[in-house]
Amino acid sequence: MTDGPIIERIEFIAFEINIENMSSDPAGFGVSYTPGKTGTHLRFGVRIYTDTGVMGEYVPGRSRVRPIMAAAEALASRLVGKPALARTQHYNTMRRLTKHIGEVGIGAIDIALWDLAGKQYGASVSQILGGYRKRLPAYASTLGGDEEANGLSSPEAYADFAEQCYEMGYRAYKMHGWHEGNVARETALLETVAKRVGDKMKIMYDASNHLATLADAIEIGRVCDACGLYWYEDPYGDGGISIRGHQSLKSFVKTPVLITEHIRNLETTVDMLVAGATDFARADPDYDGGITACYKLANAAEGLGIDTEVHSCGPAMRQLMAACRNSNFYEVNLVHPQMSNAWSLPYYENGYHDQLDCIEPDGTVGVPSLPGMGVEYDWDAIEASSVETRVVK
Ligand SMILES: [Mg+2]
Repeated sequence: MTDGPIIERIEFIAFEINIENMSSDPAGFGVSYTPGKTGTHLRFGVRIYTDTGVMGEYVPGRSRVRPIMAAAEALASRLVGKPALARTQHYNTMRRLTKHIGEVGIGAIDIALWDLAGKQYGASVSQILGGYRKRLPAYASTLGGDEEANGLSSPEAYADFAEQCYEMGYRAYKMHGWHEGNVARETALLETVAKRVGDKMKIMYDASNHLATLADAIEIGRVCDACGLYWYEDPYGDGGISIRGHQSLKSFVKTPVLITEHIRNLETTVDMLVAGATDFARADPDYDGGITACYKLANAAEGLGIDTEVHSCGPAMRQLMAACRNSNFYEVNLVHPQMSNAWSLPYYENGYHDQLDCIEPDGTVGVPSLPGMGVEYDWDAIEASSVETRVVK
């Protein structure tokens, strides 16, 4: 038995996409609804080439391209010349290489390696993982609030959009509120949406750490309790990383709390689960060490009796969730009544996308069944809009 295909070179390409009615949010990396403005965002793709011709490819859907692509490129040189199928070895190597500097570069490379393995074995990633689901229950996860007349500028507008989502098939709806974290305004949002659709949809609330203080988070948490929310995510200004802060919050609030989106390591996340800082685990293949680390995390959480909610949308998220028993909803983010989803890459082929209408009337989205990640990319279009190409060999 041979080691299989050997990695010959790894190519990174940064490219621009244009999104109508969008501007970058005040933090500089997210998106806001801005009528009439066309926003330009960077994205990047990775292709792993081997001596046998089998190739792994992945294009993360979201931004943060400059730091993540640079971090991934720095890791890539240590993989060239190595067996492409030895994913666990490469994960361990990359983790050692990221000591002191953070692990965010691992995700894209690891996911491309899983794509490559799927193509080598003629199976989708979820099939390799023992996945059993072909369809995933999904929730509409809104863009943050805005101040536009036809946007998400009032509690009623969020409630109208929830009803629109319900009519399309969604049976769960998550609100990202307004960025200022005003307790009275967020309270009105939760109460209005719960009153309108709470009898027919599961409702989640993601404060995105915009509530300033623990006291504000407790106050809103009691509103979540009264409204019967399904989960309460990243409540306040600690950044979603304080174990003691969330132990305190959870002693006052009954609604299940969901944090760990903003910490990176498998081990740190498991420590937070064991410490009782959160009721759910959060796993993001792009940010949390790829499929390799996220599958370990989901299994570790399952052993603790805890559910793992996969963060954000894309083929890697679908493949992972399809193989996890302990996962409830796929996140279709960030959706808005007037603006297309900026996190759904425009260059998928064969009909795959994560726009608002990716849902079927039964409230589910499909899991791609082609080998690897199960999607194909329009590399001609990506190369036509490229701003930089880096080759590691
Ligand atoms: Mg979140």
